Amino acid sequence: MKILSRLTASSHATADSNTALLSGWGRTSPSRARLAQPSTIEELQEHARRPLRRGLIARGLGRSYGDPAQNAGGLVIDMTRLDDVHDIDLQHSTVTVGAGMCVHRMMQLFVPLGLFVPVTPGTRYVTVGGAIASDIHGKNHHVDGTFGNYVEAIDLLLANGEVVTASREQHPDLFNATRGGMGLTGVMLSARIRMLPIETSTVLVDTDRVADLETLLDLMSRDDDGYRYSVSWVDTLATGNSLGRGVLYRGNHLDDPSAVAGPSRLKGPSASRLSIPPVVPSGLVGLASARAFNEVWYRKHPESERELPQQLSAFFHQLDMVENTNRVYGRRGFVQHQCVIPTGRESDLRKILEILSDERVPTYLVVLKRMGSGNGLLSFPIAGWTLAVDIPAAWDDLAELLDRLDEIVVNAGGRLYFAKDSRMNPDLVEAMYPEINQWRAIADKYDPQQRFASDLSRRLALRDHA
Ligand SMILES: Cc1cc2nc3c(=O)[nH]c(=O)nc-3n(C[C@H](O)[C@H](O)[C@H](O)COP(=O)(O)OP(=O)(O)OC[C@H]3O[C@@H](n4cnc5c(N)ncnc54)[C@H](O)[C@@H]3O)c2cc1C
Repeated sequence: MKILSRLTASSHATADSNTALLSGWGRTSPSRARLAQPSTIEELQEHARRPLRRGLIARGLGRSYGDPAQNAGGLVIDMTRLDDVHDIDLQHSTVTVGAGMCVHRMMQLFVPLGLFVPVTPGTRYVTVGGAIASDIHGKNHHVDGTFGNYVEAIDLLLANGEVVTASREQHPDLFNATRGGMGLTGVMLSARIRMLPIETSTVLVDTDRVADLETLLDLMSRDDDGYRYSVSWVDTLATGNSLGRGVLYRGNHLDDPSAVAGPSRLKGPSASRLSIPPVVPSGLVGLASARAFNEVWYRKHPESERELPQQLSAFFHQLDMVENTNRVYGRRGFVQHQCVIPTGRESDLRKILEILSDERVPTYLVVLKRMGSGNGLLSFPIAGWTLAVDIPAAWDDLAELLDRLDEIVVNAGGRLYFAKDSRMNPDLVEAMYPEINQWRAIADKYDPQQRFASDLSRRLALRDHA
C-alpha cells in the first residue's frame, strides 16, 4: 500500500531536491513548495516546528481539483506515509487509522471484515485527512450526509505544536471547523471512523435512462429515499426537449449473505489496471467526440434495468478503472465546476444546463446528485442538487462562461465546492458561505498567526475577516 500511495501522489508532484512542483487533479495551476514526506509523527512535528514564512499545509493524494493542497513558497506535508491502522473495534464498527490512509486501502482491509467506508467519493484514491478536510459527500448524501458525520474523533497537530483530540464532546468548535476546513485548522494525524456494517460486497443496482431534466428531477425527488445510493450522469450537450437527459443509477447493499457464496461475499477492490498515456491527442476533448461519446453512453444503457448485482468498486469507483484519467484533457488540464443549487430553485439548475448546451461546452463527465441537509461552517453540502461538470481548461471563453454560471448559483442561494474550485471570484465566498466569519473566529482561536496557509486560502482570502 505504501508503494501504491507514493506512486499515486507522485503523479502530480515532480520533486526537485527538497522542493516540488505540486498541482491538483485538474493540473491547472501548479506551484512550487518545500515538500516534507514524514513517516512518523515525530518527523512531522520536527518539520512543523521550524520557522515558516509562508506557512504550511497538509496534502493527501492531491485529488482536489485546484490548489487547496499547494502552498507556493511554503511547506507542504505529504501525509500518505502516515497510514497505519491504530485500532479496530468490531463491536462498535469503528476503526482508527492514520490520516494518510486512503479509501482504497480501507476497503481492502475492512470490507473482508464486513465494514464499508460510510461515505465514498467517485474515486477511492483520497485520504482520510482529505476526506475530512473537504467534508466529502458520496452517492448517499440524501440519506447519510457527509464523511464528517461518521468521524468520531480526530487527533490534530495544532499551530502551537500541541496534539489535541477533537470530537463532538472535546473541542467541538475545532471539530466542526476542521470538518470542511480545507486543512486550515491543523494537520490531522489520525481519525476514529464509524464504518457501515455490510453483509456482502455486492450492490443491487437499478438503472433508468431518462429522457429529459424534468423527468429526471421528478424521479429522483419521488423515490430516491428508497435507495441508499443515487447518482445520475447527465448529457449536457442534449438540446430542446432532451435537455438534461441522463442515466440514473441507484442501489442498495445486498443484505442477504446466503445469496453470495465463498470468498466473493466480502471482497475488497483490486488496483486499477489501464492507464492514460502521458501525452494525449488534443482532438480527444473536442465537441464532436464529446457528442459521440454522450450519444453512445446514453444509448448503451437499457431503458430500465433492475437489481443488477455489482461489486462495490464497480458501482462506486468506475473512474478508477483507468489511472490518470485527468490526462484525457491534455497538457492544459481541466477545471471542474461543482455547485449545489438549493431545493426549490430547480429552474436555476435548468438555466445552467441551458447555458452548457447552448454554448456547446464539450463535456463527458457530468454528475448530478441530490443532497440532504448540510453541516454548516465551510462544509459544502446544503439541501438541493449538486451538479459537477468537467471542462477542458483550453476551452475558449472559459472564464466568462464560469462567471455566468457562478452568478446563477449565488443568486439561487447556492455555492461552489472548494475541493473542486480553481478559479472562483473571491468576492462570492461570503455570500456562498454565510457562516465563514464563525469559522474564521475558530481558526483564529487555534491558529492566531495563520500558520496554516495554502494557495486556496490566499486566493480566496479564506482567513481574512471582511
Ligand atoms: C475522480 C474524482 C472524483 C471525486 N468525487 C468526489 C465526490 O463524489 N464527492 C466529493 O465530495 N469529492 C469528490 N472528489 C474530491 C475529493 O474527494 C476531495 O478533493 C478530497 O479532499 C481529496 O482527498 P485527498 O486525500 O486527495 O486530499 P488533497 O487533495 O491532497 O487535499 C485536500 C484538502 O485536504 C487537506 N488535507 C489532506 N490531508 C490532511 C490532513 N492529514 N490534515 C489536514 N488537512 C488535510 C489539504 O490541506 C487540502 O485542503 C473527487 C475527486 C476526484 C479526482
